[in-house]
Amino acid sequence: MSESKVAIYPGSFDPLTLGHEDIARRSLKFADRVIIAIAHHPTQSKDRLFSVDERLAMIKECFADEPRIDVAHFSGLLVDFCASRKVNIVVRGLRAVSDFEYEFQMALMNRELWPDLEMVFMTPAGEYTFLSASLIREIASLGGDVSRFVSPPVLRRLRERLGT
Ligand code: ADP
Repeated sequence: MSESKVAIYPGSFDPLTLGHEDIARRSLKFADRVIIAIAHHPTQSKDRLFSVDERLAMIKECFADEPRIDVAHFSGLLVDFCASRKVNIVVRGLRAVSDFEYEFQMALMNRELWPDLEMVFMTPAGEYTFLSASLIREIASLGGDVSRFVSPPVLRRLRERLGT
């Protein structure tokens, strides 16, 4: 039997959007298991809407139907987290050309840090290409309806947090 393939999907997921969910679920076409890895830095906690624990709980709920998707968190270098899990496949989403330059630079740097690492870039369904977590935070905080862009567990927490 061949070894099972695991991929890590890192990001801040503050909060998880349907674009993120789409990328994670699509990744199961080439990976047997996907670990959504919340990247955080203790010094950035002020800029965040949801704590790491809240993000972990939301993501677990959103993927309650999918045992092949796990969630974890890490601070520090992505390559160190990948090495600690013995995973050398990283998934990133590409929304537009504007994502490309940053992603390309990070991919090459990560490979310098760990030559065995492979980055896989996925595009989401067309209707999610304009979605970003920061846009969701902004629209929701101004009282806009984001129910088409996030799953119910995320929507509930956004409403609780923002009192909308
Ligand atoms: P955001 O950019 O939304 O704040 P993250 O930093 O958590 O999100 O992003 C994690 C990864 O998910 C990145 O590779 C990012 O390009 C990708 N991503 C974010 N939103 C989408 C989307 N709507 N469609 C596809 N990929 C996305």
